[in-house]
Amino acid sequence: MTFELPPLPYAMDALEPYISKTTLEYHFGKHHQAYVTNLNKLIIGTEFEETGLEDIVKRATGGIFNNGAQVWNHTFYWNCLSPNGGGEPKGPLADAINQDFGSFEEFKEKFSTACATLFGSGWAWLVTDEDGNLQIIQESNAGNPIRNGFEPLLVCDVWEHAYYLDKQNRRPDYIADFWKMVDWDSVAERF
Ligand code: MN
Repeated sequence: MTFELPPLPYAMDALEPYISKTTLEYHFGKHHQAYVTNLNKLIIGTEFEETGLEDIVKRATGGIFNNGAQVWNHTFYWNCLSPNGGGEPKGPLADAINQDFGSFEEFKEKFSTACATLFGSGWAWLVTDEDGNLQIIQESNAGNPIRNGFEPLLVCDVWEHAYYLDKQNRRPDYIADFWKMVDWDSVAERF
């Protein structure tokens, strides 16, 4: 099996002014592409040559896991964002957020803190656990919560390559802009 870089679900400049075309040219066009290219080289001659990406994310270790999970995580991240995003969730997802976090504002605060306090490179996730409750989870490097049985709903990439060209070291500014792009319709569909 050869993995391919899935097309970006919007134009390279569609997330401006929050994420620049230049950032997407590097983050999608170079970083995400490199994980795909590396994964395709690493799986040759291994059991993962014939398996799917989700199986790699769940079971692989070392470089195959790191590159495979980064492929999965980035595809998921692009689909969490939209040029028409922002605002607040509606319907059953909004009810669940209110029930599990108190209010949307409290959820936003807690998720933003998870993004801001993640030391080094990684991802902040909103997931459902096996009981259907919402949880916020921090994962370092290529970490992905499906390895631990969680169902991902939303992710924020807090690797520096996600924001450095636009915001330099100002991760909090990137997190503030992240909320203006969240595609709540897609999050609700997964819920
Ligand atoms: Mn990234």
